[in-house]
Amino acid sequence: MADPNIHSDQPDEHAPIRESVRALCADFPGEYWRALDRERGYPTEFVAALTKAGFLAALIPESYGGSGLSLAAAAAIMEEIHASGGNGAACHAQMYTMGTLLRHGSDAQKARYLPAIAKGELRLQAFGVTEPTSGSDTLDLRTTALRDGTDYVINGQKIWTSRAEHSDLMLLLARTTAREQASKRTGGLSVFLFDMRAAKGLTIRPIPTMMNHATTEIFFDAMRVPADNLIGEEGEGFRYILSGMNAERILIAAECIGDARWFVDKAVGYAKERVVFGRPIGQNQGVQFPIARAYAQMRTAALMVREAASLYDAGRDCGAEANMAKLAAADASWAAAEICVQTHGGFGFAEEFDIERKFRETRLYQVAPISTNLILSYVAEHVLGLPRSY
Ligand SMILES: Cc1cc2nc3c(=O)[nH]c(=O)nc-3n(C[C@H](O)[C@H](O)[C@H](O)COP(=O)(O)OP(=O)(O)OC[C@H]3O[C@@H](n4cnc5c(N)ncnc54)[C@H](O)[C@@H]3O)c2cc1C
Repeated sequence: MADPNIHSDQPDEHAPIRESVRALCADFPGEYWRALDRERGYPTEFVAALTKAGFLAALIPESYGGSGLSLAAAAAIMEEIHASGGNGAACHAQMYTMGTLLRHGSDAQKARYLPAIAKGELRLQAFGVTEPTSGSDTLDLRTTALRDGTDYVINGQKIWTSRAEHSDLMLLLARTTAREQASKRTGGLSVFLFDMRAAKGLTIRPIPTMMNHATTEIFFDAMRVPADNLIGEEGEGFRYILSGMNAERILIAAECIGDARWFVDKAVGYAKERVVFGRPIGQNQGVQFPIARAYAQMRTAALMVREAASLYDAGRDCGAEANMAKLAAADASWAAAEICVQTHGGFGFAEEFDIERKFRETRLYQVAPISTNLILSYVAEHVLGLPRSY
């Protein structure tokens, strides 16, 4: 009999990591997440346990005190958190936001920040890109960083900057050269890494959302950042951010695979137990086929996530695969969520079953960190060579 939790027939080199993550997550059952969801609390104890176990430092090289694992291993960690019924969104950015610093920062910046991030003494999980006016059109962002002596002065606003209240550092994308004066279409944007704890002229406002997500809007009012907090070269920030987005998309796709496994597992369990009209509801093809389809969709998406991660780990271009993995996995988790609710009938709506919570949580991935339409337009233009639509 197939186990809904089996997501690949290939030998799994990450089985020991998966087992350790599952053991850790067993201490944080549905009741824990449900209570936080109700009070919109941050999973401090869960994040501390993951940090202590070293999971959030998976992608930091050993020379900086991390575990130096592959993205595929990091993806296995996030997938298992979600397959266990938990949610990694409260801390997944601690894993990957440092990638921009690692790839494009100076030796001095890396030595200053990475060992402390690896230990969890410094939290780098605020990533400020999206703005209220420009939205998905990142090149149109309006927050400015203008050089003034040894500092940059930052003015503007970000929205949906998640975990800002639970982060010490922030990675910020801001405009250093006016769009019309930039030498290329993607130029004029720069990346800064700064300490939010010391910042003056920074206001953080929480945004309550459909699910418990600790997201915020941020206002910069003449906030000064020392010039040595610029990452890489001025004007090259868009390129630096893009290279980190592939890792983010692959890890979040893995979370969606975990969610899909959890929903299918729940649906199968209930369909076997629930007896109506004198037989288990799962004996009806009208109930079992959609669950089987959701399982097949999850397995198919998992292959794409695996391919994207292996290209990333080989240092190859994986823009198309990372996008398609995110698309396929987010669709698979949403389809599984929908069928899990349907299979449970009325109980799908009851808080104590955790399904409605996970349903709300997994809905996000149709929109963030990149919306479905934007992925489709990437594939249409960059993979299929169709005319640019915007
Ligand atoms: C809970 C949450 C957490 C987030 N966390 C972060 C974070 O930590 N840091 C960060 O920087 N951002 C974050 N985001 C922002 C997220 O990346 C954006 O919401 C997302 O990229 C979509 O941008 P938007 O909301 O501005 O939508 P818009 O760009 O306004 O788009 C609205 C809709 O129109 C569609 N659309 C827009 N243009 C086109 C087009 N040309 N063709 C077809 N369809 C189009 C989009 O697909 C979308 O469905 C978060 C968002 C949420 C909701």
